[in-house]
Amino acid sequence: MIKSLRSNDFRPLVHFLGNGTFLILAPIFIAILLCQSSYASSKGGLNTSPSQAATIAWQYLNSNWRRCLDDFKLDTKRFDVRKFKRLLTQEIQWHDGRDEFIRNSTIDSLVHNGDPSLVVSQLYGRDAVTFRGTLHVVVGPNFFTDNTQTEQIAITIHEALHVLTKMDDADLAGWLVNFGFKPSKLFRTAEITDWIVGAKNHMDINNGCPKD
Ligand SMILES: [Zn+2]
Repeated sequence: MIKSLRSNDFRPLVHFLGNGTFLILAPIFIAILLCQSSYASSKGGLNTSPSQAATIAWQYLNSNWRRCLDDFKLDTKRFDVRKFKRLLTQEIQWHDGRDEFIRNSTIDSLVHNGDPSLVVSQLYGRDAVTFRGTLHVVVGPNFFTDNTQTEQIAITIHEALHVLTKMDDADLAGWLVNFGFKPSKLFRTAEITDWIVGAKNHMDINNGCPKD
């Protein structure tokens, strides 16, 4: 059986090699441990640029995830395809909520909506925050640590739907029911993202956006 490395395991090694050798080897061991821990705490999207994810989202909506685009287009009153393309590929300003300067800015200084509270106050436990009536979206630390790259792409669609329709999560969920979305009794906003990806819990009617 393979035994995992713990810090205590280094002690006999120090004794055996002598302190000088340990000083040389220590950075290598620390690097290995850091790699392992960052791998364990991430689903793979730590370095994703949200604006690139949004551009890829538009490509997905025209290929693998075409079902969503075809369905959304049926509601010509709420869904303008050309506008949605511009939002995803050009217009939405994506901000990195891990950035200390962004976190400690007031919302007003970022999006000019008169809100004096700090951006960081909106980010806890959330993948992204869209400031309604603006083109600004801040992706939180969760966006990078808790989501696969596919989920990140779906998050940009979720947020762009907020920007386009100006609906909050409850209204957006209600609108998506028209296209097969089934919210759970304890509706969580991440269910919208899960449905776009085609996650099992929310695929009862038509799998979300994937064609099959
Ligand atoms: Zn939302």
